[in-house]
Order: sequence, then C-alpha cells, then structure tokens
Amino acid sequence: MKFSKEHIDHSPLVDGVFKVSARAKAEAATLGEDQVVNATIGSLYSEDGKLVALNTVFDTFNAIENTQKAKYAGGITGNADYRAQVYNWVVQDVKLDLAHSVVATPGGTGSIDSTLVNILDAGQTVVLPDIAWGSYKLMATMANLKVKNYSMFDGDHFNMDSFKQVTTEVMEEQGKVLVILNAPCHNPTGYSLSDEEWNELVLYMNEISKKGPFVLLNDIAYIDYSYNLPASRDYMKHFNDIEENVMVIIAFSCSKTLTSYGLRCGASVILAKQEESVKEVEILFEKHARACWSNVPNAPMVNFVEVTTKKLKEFNEEKQYYIDLLKERSDLFKKEADECGLSYYPYKEGFFVTIKVEDKDLLDKYHEALMDQHIFTVKVNKGIRVGVCSISVAKCKGLAYKMKEVLDSIQ
Ligand code: PLP
Repeated sequence: MKFSKEHIDHSPLVDGVFKVSARAKAEAATLGEDQVVNATIGSLYSEDGKLVALNTVFDTFNAIENTQKAKYAGGITGNADYRAQVYNWVVQDVKLDLAHSVVATPGGTGSIDSTLVNILDAGQTVVLPDIAWGSYKLMATMANLKVKNYSMFDGDHFNMDSFKQVTTEVMEEQGKVLVILNAPCHNPTGYSLSDEEWNELVLYMNEISKKGPFVLLNDIAYIDYSYNLPASRDYMKHFNDIEENVMVIIAFSCSKTLTSYGLRCGASVILAKQEESVKEVEILFEKHARACWSNVPNAPMVNFVEVTTKKLKEFNEEKQYYIDLLKERSDLFKKEADECGLSYYPYKEGFFVTIKVEDKDLLDKYHEALMDQHIFTVKVNKGIRVGVCSISVAKCKGLAYKMKEVLDSIQ
C-alpha cells in the first residue's frame, strides 16, 4: 500500500555530496585540517577555510528594517523594482531588442523547476547535458518528465553536433524542445561557450524552430564569477537574432552572485520576439509561484536592489577579490594537472574543475581511492568534480599531482 502518489520515482534522495563531505569533516577532526582536502563543497570559501559571506551584502541586509523583513513581497511575480533591476543586472550593457518579463523565484532552482513544469507536459522529454548539476534530473523526474542527454564535449569544445542531433530527435518526436544549457561557468566543468558557438547555436535554434517551439533554458547561476566580467554578457547579443518560435528563459540566482545561498532569491528572465509569447509564459509562472511558494521573501529582493545599485562599487570590489582568488586556485590546479598529465574537461572559469574519467567502474574506484588518500571530491557523470571554490591556494598546490598518482595506482 502507498500513501503517496503512484506515478513517481519513490527511491530516496541520494545526496552524493553530503555523505562524502561528512566523512571529510570527520577525518579533518581526527587527523587535523591540514591532512584532508575537502573539495566537495560548492560554495565560495576563503583562504582560511570559512564560508564567504560578502560584507557589502550582509551589512546591507542587516540594515533592512524589520517591517521589510516581515512583510510579503509586493506581488506574486516579485517586487517591481527587483524585477526591473534583475533585468538590468542580467543583461547589463547588452541592448536586447526582445519582449521580456522577469518573474522572481526562490533561487535559480525555483526558476528551473518553474520552467520544466510549465513548458512541458508530464510525460514529455527535456534535454539536459550529460555532465550536469544533478538537480536538473531530479527536478525533471519529480515533474514526471523524461530526460534525453546531449553530450557536453567533443574534445575541447562544446559538442554542437550532439546538441543539434538530440534536440532535433526530440523535436521530431514531440514537436517541441526544452533544453538546458548552463553557461557561462558550467557546473561542474567550468566551461563557457565561445562567441562563435553561441552564434551557431542561435542560428540552429532558428532553423529547427520551423518545426515547433524551441525553448532554451540558460542557467547563469555562476555568471558573476566570470574571469572577464565586463564581457560576461556579450554572448546575449545573439539572442537578438532569435525568431518567433524560439524562447530563451534565463535562470538567474542571487545565491552565488551575492553569496546568499540561504536567502532563496532568484528569477526567470523570459525573452521572446513577441510580447504575447512572453505574456503566455509569465501567466503560468505567476500562477505556479502562487500555487507553490506564494511569493519570494521580500528582504532578499530589497537587498539585491540595494547592493546592486547603491552599494555597487563596494560590492564589485569585494567580489572581485574572490574572482581573482578563484583564478589563482584554478590556474595553479590546471598548471600542475597539465604538468603531470591529469586530464580534465575544458575549464574556462567558475567554481569547479572536473577530472575526465569516462569509464564508470574506474570512476567509482578512483573516487574511493582518493578518499583513502584523504582527498574528498564529488563524483559526477564521467568525472570527478574538484571544488576550487572551497579549497585554499595552499591546498590546491600539489593536489593535481596527488590525484594523478592515485589514478595511476589503480589503473
Ligand atoms: N544552477 C546550477 C548549475 C547550480 O549549481 C545551482 C546551485 O548549486 C543552481 C542553479 C541554483 O542554486 P539556487 O537555487 O541556490 O539559486
């Protein structure tokens, strides 16, 4: 007998990160912090091993009046000034000649879930990258969607052929496509598409959309840690070329941008050629919000607007320090990996580097063997994720060499 609904996957949630991270912490407590590398954590940590909570963000938050913290949001789709500022923030200097709307969501997760649930009907197929943030698949299965994967890479580049082939297949099958692309700063590989790749992608979307609606969900959770920040939105200019049957939904998250993971604030930026298309989706997103979380917490929205307008200069300076730090850590790790021949997926920028291990058995063995050497990482499809966001420069030093040694010892 079942109390819960029938047509759903009933297996318990598997949280690969939590278990490994708990073991890393237990070992650090007995062996000493310096004996353990805990590269499982996906949040930004300082050089002294503490979670970064940007002062410009939290000093501003703490100064928000209690009544602002207490009250409901100004609307189900979010506060008007928040919605306007999210749009400004997401597109920055890019002039978009498209209809648009912004709907506030609890984090990027809320935006992705809302898109999956409202763009596709249960039983349809969403297209995901084969190497991806695990929650996409979970959200898809909870929405009773099927999943098809495109392969992320062809050598050192985005696998455009696979993207095209799988989305074409799905278009033939169901007359509609929803596909997720997490870039720039892809989790878990740190890949960002080149300008040419974006251009080709948009041309392809236009072509295939002659057969039916094509929705690209562009997850930009880590964009504000791009190494060339002023150019990080340049690719969005290609969205100006989309035709009537193409929609782009940008999933924005304050979690990483403001180091405010727990404040649960984000947004969907809906872009299309025609106002009616944007409105059609906005209506469903608004009703979905009302039905699921009602409204996004008010204070985090107020905070985002304050930080990114009145405190912008200080905020950018404070965050830039950590972008530089991420670069220092990832440069060091990559340099040593190159020296010793440890192969990793094409990393450009972002929180994670992923070691390439395509064989499933070897991957399982490697992940365990690393733990035996007190190196804790996250096993992802076809690789081992190393969170350079959370390990100090000192711990990055020599890490690639150690990881290569462990790999050689089991092969
Ligand atoms: N997208 C990716 C790729 C992520 O890694 C995350 C968080 O880890 C998110 C979106 C959304 O995070 P949040 O719901 O905290 O905004």
